[in-house]
Amino acid sequence: MTAPTKRRNPLEFIADEIDDLKAKHLYRPLRVMSAAQGPVTVVDGREVISLSSNDYLGLTHHPRLREAALKATAEFGVGSGAVRTIAGTMTEHEQLEAELADFKGVEAVLTFQSGFTANTGVIPTITGEADLIVSDALNHASIIDGMRLSKAPRKIYPHKDVAALRELLQTAAADGRPDGAGPYRLVLVVTDGVFSMDGDIAPLPAIVEAAEEYGAAVFVDDAHASGVLGRNGRGSVDHFGLHGRVDIQVGTMSKAMGVLGGYVASTQALRELLIQRARPFLFSTSHPPADAAACREAIRVMLDEPWRIERLWASTRRFKAELTRLGFDTGRSETPITPLIVGDSELAIRFSGRLFEEGIFATSVVFPTVALDQARLRTIVTAALTDEHIDRALESFAKVGNELGIISG
Ligand code: PMP
Repeated sequence: MTAPTKRRNPLEFIADEIDDLKAKHLYRPLRVMSAAQGPVTVVDGREVISLSSNDYLGLTHHPRLREAALKATAEFGVGSGAVRTIAGTMTEHEQLEAELADFKGVEAVLTFQSGFTANTGVIPTITGEADLIVSDALNHASIIDGMRLSKAPRKIYPHKDVAALRELLQTAAADGRPDGAGPYRLVLVVTDGVFSMDGDIAPLPAIVEAAEEYGAAVFVDDAHASGVLGRNGRGSVDHFGLHGRVDIQVGTMSKAMGVLGGYVASTQALRELLIQRARPFLFSTSHPPADAAACREAIRVMLDEPWRIERLWASTRRFKAELTRLGFDTGRSETPITPLIVGDSELAIRFSGRLFEEGIFATSVVFPTVALDQARLRTIVTAALTDEHIDRALESFAKVGNELGIISG
């Protein structure tokens, strides 16, 4: 018998990749929170004012949601125990979907484990070789992955460029399928409602008009519009008064609703098809009952406490105005997502690090989440932050921004 030769580590390349990321200032260690998500939390052992969460309305720690989760746990246990199609559909799931459909003003809703799996579930389920997907260049990663999982060809239009979108739709309607097999079965226009890194809003009325003209369907991912735009946070369709004219809305329960999960709001027929075919729905376990119950309570709180969304927008307006006055570049943001664009990734990481030392948690976002020369801090002033918190954060932004030469004055 020959002695085994010393085995070369086949995973050696991983350490090299990490070294490479560090050398390019693209490596970001995980920050660990040891307190509840909230306006003030504890990160890596330091108490900080947080501008980094998507907890727009401050619901992650709301007493009514906590209570609902505890009650559901006491009654139903901690896990659902199966995928929905086997033994994992509980009354909490069904009630949540009915209540969401009512809230959104649509025929039916189906929930998924996350906004991410909602997108990767629905897009490949409803599109195939006979269809065309037309997508905004800055759509979220989960839309991109959903398209990758689909057999449908896809065309990308420059960010929010409705003239370019129109041209694509016109060509698609005139020429049909590239293999000469006739017209497309479905042309699906897909857009984020609010773009997650820049905080700008999709030109939904113009998109809907173009789609209607050429017989296309519209799909909007409202992850960052849910709880933020529209009456009580009903989303971008409500914000623009486009009820009945957007075919599919995807939402998330992980951001403004403060819990976890995604949903597809559309027709009863689509809900039925997704139950039969959508792979994350069929092959991954459903929400724990506590999550579903907390999401149900989140809807009620959004209806009962409209001051939260009002506070979110008032703080956002003041924060943005102050940042602009100080000389920061907040890009094209129109919503509570407020980027502070610095360009260079090393500078963004240093900016975030110095703010952290000052007690302000504002994470940097670098490539590949944004373009290489678009590194930034990404901030949200949630409804839970007080004016004093925001003033303290602004003071630190001014101090550190000057120190690092990002602003002058
Ligand atoms: N869509 C968009 C536009 C998002 O920003 C996000 C979250 N970053 C998602 C989908 C995914 O949502 P979730 O966190 O619920 O998976």
